[in-house]
Amino acid sequence: DPSNESYHPLKNAYWAAKAVTPYLALARTFQVIEETKGRLKMIDTLSNFFCSVMLVSPSDLVPSVYLSINQLAPAYEGLELGVAETTLMKAICKATGRNLAHIKSQTHLTGDLGIVAEQSRVSQRMMFQPAPLNIRGVFNKLREIAKISGQTKMTLVYDVFVACRSSEARFFIRSLIGKLRIGIAEQSLLTALATALVKKNHINDCKPSKIVDVYKDEIAETTLLLKTAYSQCPNYDIIIPAILKYDIKELQERCPMHPGMPLRPMLAQPTKGVHEVFERFGSMHITCEWKYDGERAQIHCNEQGEISIFSRNSENNTAKYPDLIARSKGFLKGPVQSYIIDSEIVAWDVERKQILPFQVLSTRKRKNVDIEEIKVQVCVYIFDLLYINGKTLVTSPLAERRKLLLEHFQEVEGEWKFATALDTNDMDEVQQFLEESVKGNCEGLMVKTLDEEATYEIAKRSRNWLKLKKDYLSNVGDSLDLVVIGGYKGKGRRTGTYGGFLLACYDTENEEYQSICKIGTGFTDEDLRIHSEFLGKHVIPSAKSYFRYDSSLEPDHWFEPAQVWEVKCADLSLSPIHRAAIGIVDTERGISLRFPRFIRIRDDKSCENATDAHQVANMYQSQDQVKNNQKTCTQMD
Ligand code: ATP
Repeated sequence: DPSNESYHPLKNAYWAAKAVTPYLALARTFQVIEETKGRLKMIDTLSNFFCSVMLVSPSDLVPSVYLSINQLAPAYEGLELGVAETTLMKAICKATGRNLAHIKSQTHLTGDLGIVAEQSRVSQRMMFQPAPLNIRGVFNKLREIAKISGQTKMTLVYDVFVACRSSEARFFIRSLIGKLRIGIAEQSLLTALATALVKKNHINDCKPSKIVDVYKDEIAETTLLLKTAYSQCPNYDIIIPAILKYDIKELQERCPMHPGMPLRPMLAQPTKGVHEVFERFGSMHITCEWKYDGERAQIHCNEQGEISIFSRNSENNTAKYPDLIARSKGFLKGPVQSYIIDSEIVAWDVERKQILPFQVLSTRKRKNVDIEEIKVQVCVYIFDLLYINGKTLVTSPLAERRKLLLEHFQEVEGEWKFATALDTNDMDEVQQFLEESVKGNCEGLMVKTLDEEATYEIAKRSRNWLKLKKDYLSNVGDSLDLVVIGGYKGKGRRTGTYGGFLLACYDTENEEYQSICKIGTGFTDEDLRIHSEFLGKHVIPSAKSYFRYDSSLEPDHWFEPAQVWEVKCADLSLSPIHRAAIGIVDTERGISLRFPRFIRIRDDKSCENATDAHQVANMYQSQDQVKNNQKTCTQMD
């Protein structure tokens, strides 16, 4: 049991003699993690298992890691399982002799086909026992299943399922459904991997149960190095062999960025006005760019001339924009072997030659777009160059990156444009430029450092990029992107749909969703119908262990985290009920939104990319009345 205090990663790896990791060892690990409450304990348990694999059967580490986050390949490749429940039910019936109606009713009752599969399997007598499953075998089968369709899918599921022992059946079926339910997200996984590495390095000089305490600084440093490398090279097939072979300090160099692999984008901090911008930047050399309201796009071209387009979330959006691919040679000034540009794609009115609102872009089809059928034309506004001809530019200052951008690329009317920019340190000019950007159908400005502190900070919400939105006069300065975790049934005109919802921010440190407000404003009847239909598919029997809320907020239905909404509010206040950012501003109280109003669905953000607890705390603290209050308190002190 890898959650045990006295677990020894080498001595307790009972498969050591065979050096092939049994699937059961992973399933048991998942089982104990599922029963564990605290995140640190979960990470510790997973790290014990990973450490055993590193020591005993290192070539199984890649599939072990993928299976732990239920992926079959790097996320950006978009290889997904999500096998229909009915297909799985049929395979379970065939393997266990149960009838379909029974499996269906049990699933309805428990809300978990994985558990039903496990129970059906356990109570079944076998004539002979098939060979035990191993991790690599299961992983390869899952990849095969993802790639084929029709009857063969069910046959492959059946083949593995009949060989499942105890909890293997539960996790195999859950993997196929696409929901593992152990609550390990990417950040915990990377921490577990880093912890395992440190445990492995010190197994001979320290008692295993003491390593986490004794070497906590080394674990923190290793985690940081691993996360940094992963944000520029989000591919475990590359990262894992490198951590096994090289010193962790070399990881970033050994796993360089490369066209075709999305980078985590640099993000901006909100501000509430021109004054705040100048308070921050002082006399530093800055530039203001129009802030276009569309969809972020990282456009990559590799040495083979293949183009890929990635979203803000690192999803592969290439198939959504065949029109951009077709015209991608047009904006090159001369021969270019490879590049990565950062840009915003906006909807474009071809006749009037002007930018259209974001809502128009969101009507564009997402998948398998046929170039002949495209109705919404787009224009790309380029604002950065991160890589050119085999050379990374992220450590060069923006002024240099911009110079290279202008050297290698050119504008094409209505297709490729450079973000309209003004380099100025004059407050009035910035104010005027902001007004012009709004007239030009933009959201406001992005203000960026040009020379000093002006590198491209991968995956970071940086103080060197400030956003100045047109409605900055409102007290809060920015909208929030929140996850819907619960629904309250509507009354009166809203009967039959949800009339209100419980929203949460995401705490990246503890990987939990913290309630921040109830919302019932800003919805049209049509919005409510659409939300009820969508969320109805994500109802779960009870709150997840990683939801933090007060029992007085108990909704009629809980939802698994599935959608992000952009929300505006009048202000943020301390709350005895809500749990957002609890422990950051106040030890006992969280933060809640006053007068929240629904703006739109944010399809381009995953739930883990929702507004983070620290951002909520910053927004709360930068409100004028809070700042003034703090000043008064300090003076009185
Ligand atoms: P987050 O700050 O979490 O990304 P968000 O997606 O709501 O939240 P915004 O507040 O809209 O982000 O501000 C940053 C986004 O603005 C970028 O991700 C990018 O998509 C867009 N953008 C438009 N024009 C520019 C520009 N000139 N420079 C940088 N980003 C720009």
